[in-house]
Order: sequence, then C-alpha cells, then structure tokens
Amino acid sequence: MVKLPRLVTCEQHGTQGIGLVCQHILSAKEPNGFFWSDDSDQARPDAWCNACEEKLLKDEFSEAWYEQAGFQPVCALCWDAAKARAETFEAEE
Ligand SMILES: [Zn+2]
Ligand SMILES: [Zn+2]
Repeated sequence: MVKLPRLVTCEQHGTQGIGLVCQHILSAKEPNGFFWSDDSDQARPDAWCNACEEKLLKDEFSEAWYEQAGFQPVCALCWDAAKARAETFEAEE
C-alpha cells in the first residue's frame, strides 16, 4: 500500500495535506477515542476509534481490519480538530 502525499481542499481550511480517520470517528456524534499510527507519508497519520483499537489489539492488523475501519481522508487541520475533541472529551470524563 504505497500512498503518495496528497492534498485536499477543505471547505473550512483551504488546501491542506490529508490524514485518514476511520469512518466511526467521522460519523460519531460524540468523540469515540483517537488512536494513530506512528509513521505516515501523509500530512497526518491514519487515526482510528476505540472500537477499531480493540479489534486491532485482539486480531492484529489485517486487510479486513483496514476495510472495516473504512478510512476517509480529511484535511490535516480537521484531523487535528478531531484529535483535540477526543482528548478534551476524555479529560472531562
Ligand atoms: Zn473506528
Ligand atoms: Zn479542514
């Protein structure tokens, strides 16, 4: 899976590098965890939710895991915002 750095034009932030987040983070009404990989050739690494993390710890990385995560590209600043939201939410609990 070789991915070249890509750019996206975000409605809020303009032209930015991308990061990937799992579909659960994107569709969640409330923050549902935020985990990310160490390395990335994009502006931000792949990020995933609590449920994906649990599956990953149990089953290890696989194509099936990647597919169920349904990663979607978001702009780097939206990625940062999602991460900040999840961290704020956890701090309040
Ligand atoms: Zn997920
Ligand atoms: Zn954005």
